[in-house]
Amino acid sequence: MNYEETLKEIQEEVTPLFGKGKIANYIPALAKVEPNQFAMSLQLFDGQSYHVGNSDQKFSIQSISKVFTFTHVMNLYNESLENRLGLEPSGDPFNSLVQLEYENGKPRNPFINAGAIVLSDMLVSKYKKNTYEEMLKYIQKTCDNNLISIDEEVYLSERKSGFKNYSMIYMMKSFKNIKNDINNVMEVYFKLCSLRMSTNELSRAMLFLSNHGVDPITQEVFLTQSQAKRVNAVMLTCGHYDASGDFAFRVGLPAKSGVGGGIVAVIPGKMSLCVYSPRLNSQGNSLIGTKALELFTTKTGFSIF
Ligand code: GLU
Repeated sequence: MNYEETLKEIQEEVTPLFGKGKIANYIPALAKVEPNQFAMSLQLFDGQSYHVGNSDQKFSIQSISKVFTFTHVMNLYNESLENRLGLEPSGDPFNSLVQLEYENGKPRNPFINAGAIVLSDMLVSKYKKNTYEEMLKYIQKTCDNNLISIDEEVYLSERKSGFKNYSMIYMMKSFKNIKNDINNVMEVYFKLCSLRMSTNELSRAMLFLSNHGVDPITQEVFLTQSQAKRVNAVMLTCGHYDASGDFAFRVGLPAKSGVGGGIVAVIPGKMSLCVYSPRLNSQGNSLIGTKALELFTTKTGFSIF
């Protein structure tokens, strides 16, 4: 398979879509990003990687951080998540409050904001004041690279404008589904969303999920085979908010998007991918990123189905 050629073809085919979709502007610092960008990276088990566009350009990972949060909590708490959050697609926007209230403060899944906030609470119960630092170390280990850091401006901007996220945590606290101080939990949640990574770094970080929980290059064990299967299953069913079904239909891969414009995707047994393009579709997923991954599975035949 000539991956270089395939990525170039995809870049050409998505170019006419530049200008479609809107950049996330509900977090003021994100609205400043240059909108017409595209990069895509593909990471193989033998360490080879292929890239197109500016694959070293760092961007705000936003909800892609929920994959790191979920995998880390999965590893710490194993199966005992069920009474804190569900594993079903929400069918609602990523920051919906309505569902959370009628489901008694129990988020539908780990990949919507409320779910990741509960997981952040579980991390704070474990690591207390060092939670962000511990998570940063973990994320750096997944991509075998310690040059990952936070975008301070995005972090402050999210903290200042995250009214809906605060509403969710207060609601969950009222249902006793948050055990720690609200500000400590939100600090961790916002900091993880504000990390900056490139498609190169993110595709590398997802490799363990394509290889049953074990990094095939460093041999580091992040998850058991069964846990990795579970994370991938939740990425497939819940990774794109209320567009998860549509994404699975078009692309056919476990994947997770973020409002920064990134999408990570996993091809079990083969490779991991990341695509970046900041203009979003109406459900908050990268418009060109989704198309690029659809073209990738169509051209290569590498979907999980
Ligand atoms: N930090 C964003 C928020 O909490 C994450 C949303 C996303 O990427 O989908 O609103």
